[in-house]
Amino acid sequence: MIKMAYLKAIACFALMSISGAAYADIATSRQSCTDDQTSMVATAIRVAKDGLTRSIDSIKVSDDVGIARFTRWFGAPSSDAAEQVRQVFERAIATIDTQVYWCPLANSAELQFSGQDPAASYPKGAGTEIFLSPFYFSLPDTGENSKAGVFVHELTHQSAVGPTGDRASGMREAEVLAEVDPSEARNTADNYEFYVEDTLFGLTDSH
Ligand SMILES: [Zn+2]
Repeated sequence: MIKMAYLKAIACFALMSISGAAYADIATSRQSCTDDQTSMVATAIRVAKDGLTRSIDSIKVSDDVGIARFTRWFGAPSSDAAEQVRQVFERAIATIDTQVYWCPLANSAELQFSGQDPAASYPKGAGTEIFLSPFYFSLPDTGENSKAGVFVHELTHQSAVGPTGDRASGMREAEVLAEVDPSEARNTADNYEFYVEDTLFGLTDSH
């Protein structure tokens, strides 16, 4: 599982650091999803929305469990920190239905997919696109690096939502980042993904 997160982060990093010219033939990756894939995407969107809603509610309620979860992934929940994270989740849920989802048939050079990278997001005018590699559809439905969690990760990268970077990859790095640099954790996609997955499924301590 850690390996998946590592590869996913590489995909995102490469996407953000690539030059504009390399996107010239991105159209070749705009392949429609099959009916089965579309069904899996719809399910993952529903789960992601549920996770985002529950995450927002948890931050508002701020009970002991919620405070512990927030601290684990974002550091101490000061009012400013809690508000920043809550707003990212609010913007993610507001944009999840306006994404265009594509299912490229193979890994894509212009998106810098390689090996088993599951997904990448790509800005497109006012809207945005999320590209799902063939490997995405083998991700689990629950737990770390779930299909729904990967959507949360990609959504937070978008400028209208975060934008976050990939400062940490994998649960262990994300937890350490929350301890040593909470403000950076609140700008890191995996921390948002794991917070939502922790809210939905519970994530066993990686220490
Ligand atoms: Zn990423």
